[in-house]
Amino acid sequence: MPAQKLDGKALAATMRGEIATQVKARAAAGKRAPGLAAVLVGEDPASQQYVKNKHKACHDVGFTTTVHRLPATTSQAKLLALVAQLNADPAVHGILVQLPLPKQIDGEAVIRAVAPAKDVDCFHPENVGLLAAGHPRFYPCTPHGVIQLLARNGISLAGKSVVVVGRSNIVGKPLALMLMQKPTAANPAAADATVTVAHTRTSDLAAVCRGADVLVAAAGVPEFLTADMVRPGAVVVDVGTNNVNGRWCGDVHPGVWDVAGWVSPVPGGVGPMTITMLLHNTLAAAQQIDG
Ligand code: NAP
Repeated sequence: MPAQKLDGKALAATMRGEIATQVKARAAAGKRAPGLAAVLVGEDPASQQYVKNKHKACHDVGFTTTVHRLPATTSQAKLLALVAQLNADPAVHGILVQLPLPKQIDGEAVIRAVAPAKDVDCFHPENVGLLAAGHPRFYPCTPHGVIQLLARNGISLAGKSVVVVGRSNIVGKPLALMLMQKPTAANPAAADATVTVAHTRTSDLAAVCRGADVLVAAAGVPEFLTADMVRPGAVVVDVGTNNVNGRWCGDVHPGVWDVAGWVSPVPGGVGPMTITMLLHNTLAAAQQIDG
């Protein structure tokens, strides 16, 4: 029997409806709409598409949203001045600087310049530290999307053996932190799992992956995770977003659907959940800043 689908598109629609309801309730209470400011430097087509999708998603749930488009030649000083202006703007609760940035700009300096209270991507070292300490101000969007996709499909992670392939600062590392932590009132999405993080230096990756009850592929290598690497009945989450000759595909080979118990598709899996968790964080930022 083929695997069941972890339908991120459907869950994202449900969760965006929940967020829109909360935005309406805030408006009825006389509160300002949550505001997200996106900053896009240059004309990278993938970045343009990501920002367009985020802008539309914000609009659809009733947020105010602005996109600041700057040329690829923008200086670091000019970008930092814009971030400072957005930090000081009371109508802006969340700031998103789309990565990657052009070479002349120090991305780390820009991440550190965003006010931590408005850092809805959860990239600022203060917010990464709070997450690592188990007192998150925000959860990072893609890892939180993965955890919600599992939790809201009734898949418990407590005590499970989870393998994450990939250790980036955006996906693998923060996801591993969230998966391994003990849930508390301050850290409700923590998953109580037993976690292994694999990467390019992992010996016998296939054997490591076969040990997983839940397998998260976040390597950015098209369809590298093949059926022989998956324990029958395992849950497989595909974070990969790869463009191969104009076609979008994940890190998971189609043959995995014949072996696994659950699989998230690409597109329609983690991608829509990531944007939804950005909306969740922007609403949370508005609640924290405005009450
Ligand atoms: P990244 O910064 O390139 O990191 C990739 C990680 O995977 C690295 O830790 C790397 O190991 C590991 N890796 C690469 N090839 C491997 C292999 N053959 N075997 C084992 N490990 C391998 O990428 P990222 O930013 O984390 O993104 C990963 C993928 O997720 C990309 O396809 C990206 O487009 C996608 N993504 C999707 C979303 C979404 O919303 N759906 C969001 C973010 C990212 P080393 O550390 O040893 O180099």
